[in-house]
Amino acid sequence: MFTGWRNHPRSLKRLFFTEMWERFSFYGLNAVLVLFLTKAAHIPEDLALIIFGSYVTYVYLSTTIAGFLADRLYGYAKVAFIGGIFILIGHLTMALSNFSFSLFYFGLGCIATGTGLLKPNVSVMVGKLYSDEHEDMRVQGFNIYYMGINIGAVIAPTAVGFVAEKVAWHAGFGLAAIGMALGLYIFKRGEKEFPANCKVANNELINSRFAGIKLNIWVYVMLLALAAIFATLLANPIQSTVVSGICLLILGGYIISLWRKLTIEERSKVWIILVLSIFSVSYWTLSNQTIASLPIFIDRVVDLNYFGVTIPASSISSFYSLILIILAPIIAWFWNFTKQIKHEPGYAGKFALGLFVATLAFVFIIFGIMQAEHSGKMSLVWILVCYTLLGFGELCISPNGLALVTKYAPQNLSGIMMGLWWMINAFAGLTAGLIAQLIGFQSADKLPVAEQLNIYQNGFIKVTILGIIITAILFIIRNKIDERS
Ligand code: GLN
Repeated sequence: MFTGWRNHPRSLKRLFFTEMWERFSFYGLNAVLVLFLTKAAHIPEDLALIIFGSYVTYVYLSTTIAGFLADRLYGYAKVAFIGGIFILIGHLTMALSNFSFSLFYFGLGCIATGTGLLKPNVSVMVGKLYSDEHEDMRVQGFNIYYMGINIGAVIAPTAVGFVAEKVAWHAGFGLAAIGMALGLYIFKRGEKEFPANCKVANNELINSRFAGIKLNIWVYVMLLALAAIFATLLANPIQSTVVSGICLLILGGYIISLWRKLTIEERSKVWIILVLSIFSVSYWTLSNQTIASLPIFIDRVVDLNYFGVTIPASSISSFYSLILIILAPIIAWFWNFTKQIKHEPGYAGKFALGLFVATLAFVFIIFGIMQAEHSGKMSLVWILVCYTLLGFGELCISPNGLALVTKYAPQNLSGIMMGLWWMINAFAGLTAGLIAQLIGFQSADKLPVAEQLNIYQNGFIKVTILGIIITAILFIIRNKIDERS
């Protein structure tokens, strides 16, 4: 059962609300960014999408720098706080940019840098609240924390979207800033209670001087420079895609170099993180269809008219976050039940279940297309079933993945490993786009609906087959992975 905060460290509540407000500001901005770029700034839609994609990639790229700073220099709490300050500055700059595009992009660059600094470190902190003997509490803690993420995600698009579109765009950015300010306030007030292992700083190194200037100052200058580089790249979207690709490759090389320094015991644990991360890419590739192919699909072939009202396609994404909130306690109960009957799956088992259910989600889309072939348009119910199953999959994979990383990462590498976990998401963004292309959305646009349905059906069958193959592989090897853990 969902036991609430009882039996959990007090800091969980703070981290829950910090992350809830951070996600409020993040998803609030996500909901209006492309609309702002196309409607207010008159940037063509394809370019606006590239800017959006690059921005998200930069968030994930900076997670690795965040890990490095936290593990080697400042500790997790400090880096998370610096991240929050960057996000706040970013939203404020955007709110006050008054159509100055240099300022607008600088604000966006600050948010990408800040989110990368804050998000993985708050997750590491949740993991550090629990000792290894309290493994089941850690997993439960992450499930609770994940609720915070989704409460932020469900209210943000409506609140920020409403203010941005109905009042003024810049007021929307301002509202996101208020959310982040609240998150930072909650975090700062709880600083004293955070466990000591979240605050281990290498003061000697921080205060050492390079070229007569303290390293500490260099770090801030570097972070500001990073935000400025992101801003320059965002203003030049085409170069930006190439640079993101190169950065991802460099980071891949960095991970390989880290591997060589690990002991055999550490390697066997990091190996589990790496293998399950690869499977998590498959899950995110499927689930990112909710932002890649499914919105276009819904727009073209799904019947959105009910009782004389047309449901806005954008509200379907709020449904997704809502379903995550509803499902979270049910799934927590389910894991508890499997534990009581002594059949609780391990991490790999939970991942395999998540992938299976996410693949099943696309089977329902295929059924829906078959129904539409008879009646012209597809019923929304199929989409809702699909989103519910994808949500179930996310709850099997994402909170468990966070718990897994905090459990198996070598002590002094928790931040870097968590950064890696988030970087995986950048790859999944790329693969999700490729899959959407494979389905053939671009070419289907001008065709009659019946022919479109045929193309989509073939496309989604391919996606399902891919999902089945990957799920089957994980089902076969899951016990081997779980035995090693
Ligand atoms: N929805 C989750 C969050 O915002 C996971 C997002 C992701 O990993 N792509 O934290």
